[in-house]
Amino acid sequence: MPRVVLSNVSKVYSGGVVALRDVSLSVEGCGVVSLLGPNGSGKTTILKLVVGLIRPTRGEVYVDSCKMPQERDKVITRMSAVIENPAPHSDRVRVRELLDFIRRVRGLRREDLQEIISVLGMESILDKRLNELSRGQYKKTILACALMGEPEIILLDEPFEALDPPTVLRLSEYLRKMRGKSLVVLATHRPGIVATLSDRAIVLRDGQIVGDYGREQLLEKVKRRRVVVKTRGELDLDAYRRVGVIDIRKTGSDTYEITYDASRDLRY
Ligand code: ADP
Ligand code: MG
Repeated sequence: MPRVVLSNVSKVYSGGVVALRDVSLSVEGCGVVSLLGPNGSGKTTILKLVVGLIRPTRGEVYVDSCKMPQERDKVITRMSAVIENPAPHSDRVRVRELLDFIRRVRGLRREDLQEIISVLGMESILDKRLNELSRGQYKKTILACALMGEPEIILLDEPFEALDPPTVLRLSEYLRKMRGKSLVVLATHRPGIVATLSDRAIVLRDGQIVGDYGREQLLEKVKRRRVVVKTRGELDLDAYRRVGVIDIRKTGSDTYEITYDASRDLRY
């Protein structure tokens, strides 16, 4: 059973920036755990500590019983991570070649690769070279490398950034499916997607944990949201009701109050 523990962890970067202040958290078993917080709240720092890319200034980080980064070699083969949005690549190798190389190194079947290619919608970019890819296409390629073969512990930093909405939807469904077999820890500054996807959400602010919610609490918290919109002209109320709007009321000559199910994304 995968386990990630931070025990009284502080991280001060050179230059004196305090990124984490005495953070303790323990994540055990499979499922999707989201780190949620604004830019600069310490999400990426936590992921880097867990992979052993950086060391804590104070406190301890464990993956299972292995202390990170000291015992990183013992657990690294069970982990997979995409940390921070990758910069474009200068390599001229083709996407297909890279993915197939990773597949063979990991001893995976062709079907494992095929599945992740369709989840991420990569069919049309397989013959492109890495240096020809757009930001979103490169992001897909890196995600495919990380997710292929469903590693036991997966750390994803802002996985949905730069992806188009249909891919966001398929990826979140895929991650949701993986929660039976893997521990997925993802960092995001977008609360919208967290509720539908996560079994637990840990909320960070200024390097501290300010909230920790289980699945039921999460759904409760965001299921019903209310917005007031100003319009030019009449809204087609029936069209709104079909896409997850719970209630829509005209409250003025050009204003409506919409209560919607925030666990659905109205764009799809
Ligand atoms: P998040 O991922 O939530 O946006 P980060 O963990 O990347 O936040 O950063 C937390 C804080 O640490 C920010 O104030 C950031 O500027 C600072 N920070 C991150 N990495 C470094 C670094 N290598 N050197 C100095 N400061 C850093
Ligand atoms: Mg970050």
